[in-house]
Amino acid sequence: MSLISFTSILLVSLVILTTQFIVFRDWVIDFEEEDIKSRATQLEILLNNENNFDSYNKIINSMDLEVVIYDENKNIVLNNLEDNINYIKEDLINKNEIKVDFNLEDSYVYLTKTINIDDKNYHIFIQKESEAYNDFFENMMPIYMSILIIGAIISLLAGMYISKQFMNRLNKLSKTMIDVKEKGLKSRIEIKNPKDEFDKINIIFNEMMDSLQQSFDTQNQFVQDASHELRTPLTILKGHLKMLDRWGKNDPSQLDKSLKISIDEVDRLTKLVNDLLELGKVEKDSIIDSQNINLNEDLHDIINDFKMINPKVNYKLELDKDLYICMNPKHFKQLMIIFLDNAIKYCDKPSPNISISTYKTNNSINISIKDNGVGIPKAEIPKITEKFYRVDKSRKYNNSFGIGLSIAVQILRLYDCELEIRSEVGVGSEFIIKYA
Ligand code: ADP
Repeated sequence: MSLISFTSILLVSLVILTTQFIVFRDWVIDFEEEDIKSRATQLEILLNNENNFDSYNKIINSMDLEVVIYDENKNIVLNNLEDNINYIKEDLINKNEIKVDFNLEDSYVYLTKTINIDDKNYHIFIQKESEAYNDFFENMMPIYMSILIIGAIISLLAGMYISKQFMNRLNKLSKTMIDVKEKGLKSRIEIKNPKDEFDKINIIFNEMMDSLQQSFDTQNQFVQDASHELRTPLTILKGHLKMLDRWGKNDPSQLDKSLKISIDEVDRLTKLVNDLLELGKVEKDSIIDSQNINLNEDLHDIINDFKMINPKVNYKLELDKDLYICMNPKHFKQLMIIFLDNAIKYCDKPSPNISISTYKTNNSINISIKDNGVGIPKAEIPKITEKFYRVDKSRKYNNSFGIGLSIAVQILRLYDCELEIRSEVGVGSEFIIKYA
């Protein structure tokens, strides 16, 4: 990773430098060509104003140029070149040409041209040092190169540091994952800085593991609770069957008693198995079969059924006629049966009173089922929707397994409904379904 970042930074810097250099060189060439051309024209004008070669020499020196002038017979008539004349090639004569010669040590611009002085043709060769180019190589190039080298070193070191940090953190995550794979769900990653991007991923990982752990724990607990609930009636059943086997055949009163208890326990078992099946089924049931339910009509129907089975209960209905909710009717009926069953079951009065009302508030349509039963202690209210939770752990309330309200909550969750529970021990309880 550090090598890739180093190479890419180096390549980018090289491309930028080369581009800068090419642009600069083109600019210098244009500048020098224009400059030497205008100097040649200027020189031609000045030379035409003078009439001897001595004064020519003065003008040329004052213009800071190196010049060779040949006459038409290719004889040198003027030469102020500092270096030896030999390197001026013969073929330069008779040519109109500008040449820019750049090299690392000294860069020169040359011009060859035929000029006219006092109606005679001369071949002129002008040589001029390219100061801009030489300056660039002497002063700017070392700075550019140093910047490039220092930048490359810094990027290499920074790349190495960053990739080391990155790898360390990645290793920590993968080590924890291996721990989870080998030793179970308990391992978590230590969070040092919650604002750090890497630690944000670690936090998500930890939260994911927490919820996995929680659902495993819940599942384990469920299996344990379910087995426990199943074991009790089975043990009782087995005890009575043994008793019947030993004495019941000849003792009609024992036979009657044991058969009655056994049938009750089988009923209990059947109810428990049905509840468990119902609990597992809720999530698979679709809410696609939802339809508009007229609360007034459906609640009247349900209460009429309840009246037939529980004639001693006083039902009070306060139903708004125009309230509808969208729900699978099977779910709606299941909910009402759970709340009404509980209202009747957990009542110690000889004639239970149940008030069912529907009303609308700003945010929701509400269905309230209120009873005058035993009530629930405040501290237990949040727990009663948990699976297998019962306030009274004895077998006082037959067919009570602590599953009804968990089924209700699961159904309500499908429709994003809330459940509010108000209760006072000895006074009664109210369960309010809030349909948003
Ligand atoms: P079950 O009725 O099968 O025990 P639920 O999940 O329906 O299971 O209820 C859980 C517990 O909540 C009950 O065991 C009971 O203690 C308490 N409870 C539920 N409804 C009422 C109510 N209307 N009045 C008093 N207690 C209630």
